[in-house]
Amino acid sequence: MARTPSLETSQDSLALLYHISRELSAALELQIVLQRVLLLSMENVGANSGSIIVLDSQEQPIDSIIVYGERIQDQTTEQLRATLEYGLAGWVLQNHQSVLILDTSQDERWLQRPDDAIDRTGAKSAISVPLLARERQVGVMTLVHPHPNSFATSHLELLQTIADTAGITVLNARLYAESQRQARVMSALAEAAITVTGSLELKDVLQRILDQTSQALGIQTVSLALIDPQTNELVFQAATGLGGQKIIGVRLKIGEGIAGWVAKEGQGVIIPDVQKDERFAPYVDHLTGFTTRVLACAPIRSGDKVIGILEAVNPTSGAFDNDALLMLAGIGSQAGTAIRHAQLFENLQAAHQRYHELFENSVNPILVTDMQGLILEANQQALKAAGYASDTPEGGRYKLIGMNIKNIHKIKAGHTLKKMSSGVTSYESVLYTKQKAQIPIEVYAHPVNIAGGTHLQWILRDISERKRQEQLREDLIQMIYHDLRSPLSNVTSSLDILLNSLPAEKTTDSAFMEGLLQIAQRAIERIQRLTDSLLDVSRLEAGQPIINQVATDVQSLIREAIYSTLPTIQAKGQTLTAHFPDGAPSGLPLVYIDADMILRVLINLIENASKYTPNDQPLSVGTKPDSDPNAWVQVWVKDAGPGIPLEQQDYIFSKYARLSEHRGTVKGIGLGLAFCRLAIEGHGGRIWVESQRSSAKTGSRFVFTLPVAQAGEPQAIIMNEG
Ligand code: ADP
Repeated sequence: MARTPSLETSQDSLALLYHISRELSAALELQIVLQRVLLLSMENVGANSGSIIVLDSQEQPIDSIIVYGERIQDQTTEQLRATLEYGLAGWVLQNHQSVLILDTSQDERWLQRPDDAIDRTGAKSAISVPLLARERQVGVMTLVHPHPNSFATSHLELLQTIADTAGITVLNARLYAESQRQARVMSALAEAAITVTGSLELKDVLQRILDQTSQALGIQTVSLALIDPQTNELVFQAATGLGGQKIIGVRLKIGEGIAGWVAKEGQGVIIPDVQKDERFAPYVDHLTGFTTRVLACAPIRSGDKVIGILEAVNPTSGAFDNDALLMLAGIGSQAGTAIRHAQLFENLQAAHQRYHELFENSVNPILVTDMQGLILEANQQALKAAGYASDTPEGGRYKLIGMNIKNIHKIKAGHTLKKMSSGVTSYESVLYTKQKAQIPIEVYAHPVNIAGGTHLQWILRDISERKRQEQLREDLIQMIYHDLRSPLSNVTSSLDILLNSLPAEKTTDSAFMEGLLQIAQRAIERIQRLTDSLLDVSRLEAGQPIINQVATDVQSLIREAIYSTLPTIQAKGQTLTAHFPDGAPSGLPLVYIDADMILRVLINLIENASKYTPNDQPLSVGTKPDSDPNAWVQVWVKDAGPGIPLEQQDYIFSKYARLSEHRGTVKGIGLGLAFCRLAIEGHGGRIWVESQRSSAKTGSRFVFTLPVAQAGEPQAIIMNEG
C-alpha cells in the first residue's frame, strides 16, 4: 500500500520547494524537466502514477509524460487530446481550477478506463492542478493514489505550490524546445536552399530537391510533379525509392488524387492514413507496386503561382511530426524558384543554341563588329568568303576576328559606322579576300544590341552571279543592237528602194512584185518589233527608266496597231472592231507614253487575241475612262478564245510563262505578256486580265492603264493613221 506523507510544518514545505527549484533549474530539456517535476511531486504526495500534459501558446497539447508505477509511458497527441477533452485534466484546464478527488469512482470528471474497474485496481484518489506561468496555463499535472481517500487538502496545496514553481520551468523548457525545433527546421531549409539553388541544370535541380527532402524528412520515397502549362495537368518528373522510375511521366488532372488536390488548393497536407483518404488515387500505387501509407504533400510555388507539388511518402519513423509540413512547404517554395531559374536557363541556352546555329549555318557571310569596325564574330561562310577557312577553323577565325571590317571591304562613300547605328544600311561593294581576290558583294549592315552595347551586324551577300547575269544581259543587248537591228534596217531600206523602183504604171508583174515586197516588209517589221521588245525587256528589267515619253493620242495609236495586225486577223477570217467612248477622238485626253513601246504592247495583245481565238470569231479593242479619269486612261483588247483560269491570271505575265494547254499546240515563247507588263509598269500603269473560265467561250479581256499627259508635256506626231 502506498504511503501518503503528511506535511507537518511550513518549514518542511519550504525545504521541499527549495529542493524542487534547485532540481528544476538544472534542466532545460522539456522531457527531463517534466520527468523531474512529476517524479518529485509523486514522491512528495505519495502518488503511484501521474501525468503532465504540456500546452502550446494556443493551449493545444504538444507534449506529455505519464508515469505509471516505475514505467514512463508514451502517449500520442490523439490520446492526449482525448484526455483533455473528456478527462479530469481537461476539466482543470477549462475551469482554471485545481481539483482534489477523494474517490474517482464517485466523480464523473474522472475518465473511467478499463483499469478503473472493480476487478482491476478499482477506485482511486486523484489531484489535478494547472501549471501556470505568467498567468497563463502551460500545462496540467495529475497525480493518482491507488486508494480512495488518500489525499487531503494539504496535498492539494503542496501540489499547487510545486505547480506554481514548475510552471515557469516548463514554459522555459517548452520555449527552448520550440526554438530548438525552429532552429532545426531553419537550418534544414537553409541547407536545402543552398543545395537546391546550387545548380542550373533542371535534371540536377530536381534530383537535389528530392535528396534534400529525403534527408530533411527521413522518408522512403519522394516524388515531384510539375504542371504542364499546355494541358494543365500534373506530370511526375522525378522520384526516388522503390518504383520511383515508374511514376515518371504519370499525369494527374488538377484536383485528382492528393497531389492534384494540393495543386488545386495551393496548400500542403499530411495524411496519416492514406488508404482511408477518399482523395487518394490508388492507381498510382498499382502502377509502381508500392504501398503508400503515410503521405505529406506541399505545393511548389514560383512567385504566387503553384507550378507543381512535392510529395513525401512513408516516413521511416512511421509518422510525420509537426515540423514535416513546414519543412516540406519550405523546400517546395525554394524548389519553385530553383526550377524556374533552371527552366529559364534552359530556354536561354536553347535560344542561344538556335541563334548560334542560324548564325553558323546561314548561307550568307555574317560578321559582328563593334562601333569602331573591329570584327568580333564571324560565321563559317564569312571565313570561307574572305578566304580564311583554309586555315584550321579556329586559326582562321582568329585571324579574321580582330581585323577591321574596313580592311576587308570598302564602305560606301558618305557612310560612317556611326551613321549606320541608326538603322539598316545597304549598298554594293567589293570583298577583298586573303588571296587578294575581289568579290562583288551586297552589304546589309544593321545595329544590334549585344550585352547592353550597340554593335553592327554585317551580312555580305556574294552577288558575283548577279553581276555576271547583268554583264550577259548587257552583252545580249549589244549583240541584238549591232548584229540584228542594223542589218534589219539595211534590209528595210533596201525593200523601200525596191518598192519605190517599181514602175509607176502597174502591170501584172509589178503588182505581183509589190505584193511580195510588202510581205517581206511586214516580216521584217515583225522581226524588228521582236528585237525592240527583247531590248526593252532587258532594259526595263535592269530598271532603266523610259525616256522617250511624249503626249500621244491613244486612239490613233490603236488604229495604227489595227493597221499592222489586220492582215493576220483577216487571214483567220476574224473581225476586229474598235470601240471608243462617245465624243472621241476629242473626248479622250492625250496619254504620256513611249508611243513606239505602247504600240508594240497593243500589237502583242491583239496578235495574242487573234492567235488564241478560233477562226471566224470576233475580236475587239477600245478605251474606257478609268475610275481616276484625270490620271489614267484604260485600254482593252477582247477576244473570243478559251479564257484564262483565275489562278493563272497573274502567272501568264511572268517571263517564259505559257499555259500548258498551249504548249506544243500554239507557237510562242512566253515573252510577249512579260514585255507588256514591264512596259506598262515602266509607265507607272497596271495591266491585268479579266476572264471567267467557267462561262466557256466568253474569252479574255486584257486591260491596261496609261498615264494622262499633263499640260506642258511634249506631243507626238503619229504616222500611218488610217
Ligand atoms: P506566247 O503567246 O508567246 O506564249 P505570251 O507571254 O504572249 O506568250 O502569253 C503567255 C501565255 O498566256 C500564252 O502561252 C497563253 O497560254 C496565254 N495567253 C496569252 N494571251 C491569251 C489569250 N488571249 N487567250 C488565252 N490565253 C492567252
